Order: sequence, then structure tokens, then C-alpha cells
Amino acid sequence: MQTQLLPVTPESLAEAGELIRSGALLAFPTETVYGLGANALDAAAVKRIFEAKGRPGDNPLIVHISAIDQLSALAACAPGPAAQKLMAACWPGPMTLIFPKSAAVPAEVTAGLDTVAIRYPAHPAARALIDAARRPIAAPSANRSGRPSPTTAAHVLEDMDGRIPLILDGGPCDVGLESTVIDVTGDVPRILRPGGVTPERVREICGGVAVDDAVLRPLRAGEKPRSPGMKYRHYAPAGALTVVQGEESAVIAAIRRLYDDALAQGKHPLILALDAHIPAYGDRRTLSLGADAKAMARSMFARLREADGLGADVLFSEAIATDGVGLAVMNRLERAAGFCVKNL
Ligand code: AMP
Ligand code: MG
Repeated sequence: MQTQLLPVTPESLAEAGELIRSGALLAFPTETVYGLGANALDAAAVKRIFEAKGRPGDNPLIVHISAIDQLSALAACAPGPAAQKLMAACWPGPMTLIFPKSAAVPAEVTAGLDTVAIRYPAHPAARALIDAARRPIAAPSANRSGRPSPTTAAHVLEDMDGRIPLILDGGPCDVGLESTVIDVTGDVPRILRPGGVTPERVREICGGVAVDDAVLRPLRAGEKPRSPGMKYRHYAPAGALTVVQGEESAVIAAIRRLYDDALAQGKHPLILALDAHIPAYGDRRTLSLGADAKAMARSMFARLREADGLGADVLFSEAIATDGVGLAVMNRLERAAGFCVKNL
């Protein structure tokens, strides 16, 4: 299959809408990461998403809508008070809510769960695509399963060339990490996956928030996660990544030592560091994660892909504090490292 890469125009959107209605897949930009979309109400089309990604069938998808009134066909009941407040404050935006599912949503989308994940994205191209398709769009991130999520159309092409007919190119993604997934089926909103909408913000809006404790640790043997995606190794670069956490100067000293040891062993190490710390690593090979947690969210997946391109076989990354969007950054970074975290 030939993969077309097209800018977002009325013509490409019309073609994309037609492709979705015909049961095909395509990749499109959102404010979080690029999505790999199909008609959410077409089970056969949804199955193709799992095939193209190599995604395990028990990892459910998020259904994207382009107006709040599309929710009632997908959710089995009206949103409760906490969900309504979150929707009013954060939609359209990088937030996914979990509702009891309606019969219209195929089991393939929800991996057999009786709940469905819904998001109303802010990116104008994503909304225009849903409008053009006149269908809700089920979409996970448009990477091959296990790889870092794509934040540019070029990343999507790396993973999906020849597997899908069309990639809509809307430039780099603004947030850079996947949406915050919040379970609103209980009394208190529970964050299952952190993202651009932070726990602090959810507390401000709803007066309370719970953060699933599996967010920053590996699952225990036999543990069934509330968010099925949590059990898979994710976002991983080809090289072995270690995250180093602790006081700033101790982290820099430790990473320098780890790098030098790796080099002495004939390896090809690479350091991922905040802008302000780059000079402290001297002539060692570094990639910048940006100035702060927000910049790190935006750049992290791109840097992990670049590390592969540079042939890095061992990587050492600085950690960041877990307040605000830092929680989402550390959630992804620790998974990319397979939880190889060195605490100083
Ligand atoms: P992705 O679209 O690749 O970013 O993955 C979507 C994530 O949303 C999955 O990994 C799931 O963990 C989560 N998710 C989707 N549907 C549900 C659901 N019904 N209940 C809990 N988590 C869900
Ligand atoms: Mg994903």
C-alpha cells in the first residue's frame, strides 16, 4: 500500500472523511500526539487499527468526538456532576473520560470492557476530520506498539509507511504526551493515566481527585490494572534507558560516571538532559529535553526516536519533579525505561 502524506486542506479532509466511512485507517494530528483513526462504530475497521499497530487486543481505544452532543450515543448514561464540570472546563482538550458504554460501541473498541473512553480533542484538524467523516473516530497513538508515540507526521511515516493509505500532516503536536485518562464512573474522579490536564487542575475543578497508584510504578505480578494500557512496555527507544533521580548536582555527577563507564566498555551512550544542565556534561553526547516539564512533555518522544537514529545503545535521562505535568512526563519516562530508575 502507498502511504500519502498530505497537508490539512478542505480537499484532504474530504478524502480522509471518505476513507473513514469506507472502513479504512488514517493518521491525523491532535494536540496530544498523532492518532491512528478508524470509524469507531465499525468493528472490522477498528480491528485494522490493532493489526497496523501490532497492538494487543486487550488494550482499549479512545473514541474521539467533535461536539459534546455526540457523547449520548456512545455513553450508556448522562455524565454525573464531576464529569460535567470536567467537560465544561477541559473539553475540547487533552482529557479522556471513562463512561459506561452504550450498545452502539463495538466490543473491539473497548477490548470487551463495559466502559468506553471518550475524548473531544482541541486540534482543529482532528475536529474537522471527525466532522468530515460524520462518525466518531476510535484512535490510539499512531506508532507501532511499544515505540515512542509520534508527535510529527514524519514519526508516523517511520512506523506506518505502507500500512495505511493517508497521513494528514498538521505539524508538531502542542502537548506532546497522550491525554489524561480520568475514570468518572465513581464518586471522585480518578486519574488512570496522567497527561496535560494535571491532578492539581482536576482537584481545582472538582474539589477532589484520586491518582491511581500504578501511575509511577510497575504492576505487581498478576495485578489487573484499571487502565489496561498500563501493563505494556511503552514508548521505548531501542537502547537501554536508565532514569536518574535525586538532587540536581548528584544526578549530574552520577550520569557523568555512568556515561564514562559505558564508554569505557565500548558502548555508545547518550544523555538526555534539561537545557540548563547540558554544559555540565562537557563533550559527552547529549540531547536536550528543553527548559522545563512542559518542554520535556513536548520533546521527549521525539528525542527518544532521535536516540535510536544516533545508534545510542545505552541512554541516561535526568528525572523531573512530579508536580503539574511532571507527573505525566515521569509516567512515560519510567515506562520507556522499563522502570529502570536509579534513586540517589
Ligand atoms: P492510546 O490511545 O494508545 O494512548 O491508549 C489509550 C489508553 O486509554 C489505553 O492504554 C487504556 O489504558 C486507556 N483506556 C481506554 N479505554 C479505557 C477504559 N474503558 N477503561 C480504562 N482505560 C481505558
Ligand atoms: Mg499509545
